[in-house]
Amino acid sequence: MTATATALALAYLATGVLFILGLKLLSSPARARTGNLLAAIGMLIAVVATLFDRSIISWTDMLIGAAVGAVIGYGSARAVKMTAMPQMVALFNGAGGGAAALVAAGEFLRLSSANAAAGAATLLPIILSTIIGAISFAGSLIAFAKLQELMTGRPITYAGQQAVNALIALAVVALAVAMLVGNTAPALFVGLVIAAAVLGVSVVLPIGGADMPVVISLLNSFTGVAVAITGFVLSNDVLIISGTLVGASGTLLTMLMAKAMNRSVSNVLFGAFGSVKAAGAVTGAAPGGTVRSGSVEDIATLLAYGRSVIIVPGYGMAVAQAQHAVRELSDNLEKRGVEVKFAIHPVAGRMPGHMNVLLAEANVPYSQLHEMDEINPQFAHADVALVIGANDVTNPAARNVPSSPIYGMPILNVDEAQNVVVLKRSMNPGFAGIDNPLYENPKTTMLFGDAKATVTSLAAEVARV
Ligand code: NDP
Repeated sequence: MTATATALALAYLATGVLFILGLKLLSSPARARTGNLLAAIGMLIAVVATLFDRSIISWTDMLIGAAVGAVIGYGSARAVKMTAMPQMVALFNGAGGGAAALVAAGEFLRLSSANAAAGAATLLPIILSTIIGAISFAGSLIAFAKLQELMTGRPITYAGQQAVNALIALAVVALAVAMLVGNTAPALFVGLVIAAAVLGVSVVLPIGGADMPVVISLLNSFTGVAVAITGFVLSNDVLIISGTLVGASGTLLTMLMAKAMNRSVSNVLFGAFGSVKAAGAVTGAAPGGTVRSGSVEDIATLLAYGRSVIIVPGYGMAVAQAQHAVRELSDNLEKRGVEVKFAIHPVAGRMPGHMNVLLAEANVPYSQLHEMDEINPQFAHADVALVIGANDVTNPAARNVPSSPIYGMPILNVDEAQNVVVLKRSMNPGFAGIDNPLYENPKTTMLFGDAKATVTSLAAEVARV
């Protein structure tokens, strides 16, 4: 081994270690920033080391590419709203899958222009990386379009869809096998890329917008696998390590999200969840039930004179950017001796950890945040469950109405508290598109309005009463 090769191997090893440490630290909100920084340092080392790994054909192209990428990445990361983060992750993920497929295409072109008779062992990783990368790229773009509402978020289904998808998958396999047995005409390779991209599109189309974050996580793990295989194509250790880490963590996250909704991953992929509404959803709400709304003064009094309040944040808190006002309300209640806890549902908001990130930004102490399993038995002893912009994750139909689309999804049992207060703007449903019988529960008082405005008023009123 030459000195350069040894230095490169050590640099890639350091990168691998930093990535793993980064992931480990990201699992705790208190150390997540350090974890992110360590992983970024690892990435910097990997990029710099790679510049010495191969002979660079054009430094100008490299620098222009890096500058364009840096400007787009920095600009979009700064501009994106927290609520649009899932679609941004979808785009970045698609770019990763596309890059893996492009690198594989580059290697394929290099081999075919060198006229070298590439064996199946060389072609296999190139073909796999192309297929998985193209599926991930095309699927992620559809996921992005659905979440950005550039197209309908509802499942797009038609008769015989699964058979059509199976045929496209068969075409992909047939093209791959044809290439592996020695037909390496560029037209065949182009056909493979197109067939894989069509498969990515056709698999994501029938999946509803509410399931997109799970799909993005799954496609993310695909990208990881494509990148790891690219590592074998290029004999690059750091790609193998990082691709494997992304593949494994994406798979784990996909399974955790599916579990939190009490659904299997195959149900997410093939269940066309959300199409039920068009056919008339079963909501579990009593027809003609009454909904009671209250004033800021009444609710502030209820909160201020309670012994314990459990705050349940959801997607609406993120939309309203109400987290700082929520922190103020919590502080004002604690000053009066009220015990305040936060109940965090694993899929509240639009991405895993959404609520944790927002509450951490507002400096809510981690010790006040409680996971669903831990807090659920405590609702029965709470004076008030204060639901701020959460809907689906509190819907009792998930527990009581077997015909509900979300039946079986574990929820926060807010209806067990002595009183329930719900802050939202209207009677509109949440992301799953179904009504919530909680709002007709006699224990429930609604406070309509933008969560930032209502929570700010409540905080001021609590300080006053
Ligand atoms: P929901 O989407 O169920 O409900 C959010 C509620 O917030 C809406 O009913 C809306 O009502 C209200 N809202 C919106 N904007 C405001 C505002 N400015 N002020 C006050 N209220 C507002 O959110 P949940 O967090 O309860 O549930 C998350 C959903 O996302 C679940 O269905 C989950 O399965 C799904 N999901 C989440 C994933 C994740 O990783 N977190 C992954 C996959 C799916 P109104 O319009 O009347 O104000």
